[in-house]
Amino acid sequence: MSDTFKAILVSRDAEKKQSVAVTDLTEADLMEGDVTIAVEATTVNYKDGLAITGKAPVIRRWPLVPGIDLAGTVTASSHPDWRKGDQVILNGWGVGETHYGAFASRARVKGDWLVPLPEGMSAHDAMTIGTAGYTAMLCVMALERHGIVPDRGPVIVTGAAGGVGSVAVSILSGLGYHVIASTGRAAESSYLMDLGAAEVITRDELAQPARPLAKERWAGGVDAVGGQTLANVLSMTSYGGAVAACGMAGGMDLPASVAPFILRGVSLLGIDSVMAPKPIRLEAWRRLGTDLDSRKLAGLSTTIGFDGIIDAARDIVEGRIRGRVVVDM
Ligand code: NDP
Repeated sequence: MSDTFKAILVSRDAEKKQSVAVTDLTEADLMEGDVTIAVEATTVNYKDGLAITGKAPVIRRWPLVPGIDLAGTVTASSHPDWRKGDQVILNGWGVGETHYGAFASRARVKGDWLVPLPEGMSAHDAMTIGTAGYTAMLCVMALERHGIVPDRGPVIVTGAAGGVGSVAVSILSGLGYHVIASTGRAAESSYLMDLGAAEVITRDELAQPARPLAKERWAGGVDAVGGQTLANVLSMTSYGGAVAACGMAGGMDLPASVAPFILRGVSLLGIDSVMAPKPIRLEAWRRLGTDLDSRKLAGLSTTIGFDGIIDAARDIVEGRIRGRVVVDM
């Protein structure tokens, strides 16, 4: 039938065993919402990997179409802000967790969740950025609000060869920061230098149990890893510095001491992209349109088709993906 479209559906059986399959849906199968979108591009984030593999309880409604990010064109709307033909981006808001998400050719969502595609940016470019890149920008904006400007000293980015990390390295270097990129993949050093890293250090340097205070090495940081890594980053942050923590690729725990906070005035800035209020999203996407070198965008992404989503989801949780994976629908 012509009005069916392909979707990935994650289901759970009576024993709560999770499975994933490609299926056909119609618009009548979509969930409630006041805007329907033809999805043109999406992306596979770490969180999508966790959702599809079931490695963490990202999905909280069964069955569900996963996919937390999309860019596309409005096909129908009863929301006052959006009309048929508008080009839009959606990141988070529980889409791909509790609401049918991006891994389908059509999505129906709340108009309040959408932001306009910035002038001059394609759907493909927007998904090269995706939630990972938009989160990297939220981290950079948080550091700036805290006064961490390039003159204050170097900044570290952990999980640098991943999605958040790659975009953070690109944005920060473009803004004139001296960027130290931490990676577990030595083979990605030249990739990170091409994105603008001034130095590349190995992940192992930050993997040991953290001392309460270590030698001051950077004024700020963007941390996508958590765990021991974040504890070390904090203990090496210089007086009055700040670290934006957004990820847990290395662990949910934080085996740290309060010493950096109470003896060096270091701040830990928490970053959440999912429920971030709309004005902050609009500012982040505006900045991504101006501060992220579009020539670097192509270099940090791999493009796949709909059929490659499930394999890419498995690869990302195994740490086998470099940069960003864009899905052209
Ligand atoms: P990626 O998988 O693309 O990148 C994560 C990177 O972390 C890897 O590439 C790797 O970098 C590093 N890493 C992986 N495993 C380990 C480990 N065991 N120890 C140390 N480093 C490790 O994921 P994303 O960039 O998409 O997401 C990064 C994190 O940010 C995830 O935890 C994700 O859930 C979180 N996130 C949070 C958001 C929020 O709203 N707060 C929004 C988006 C993402 P390398 O190979 O360079 O060492």
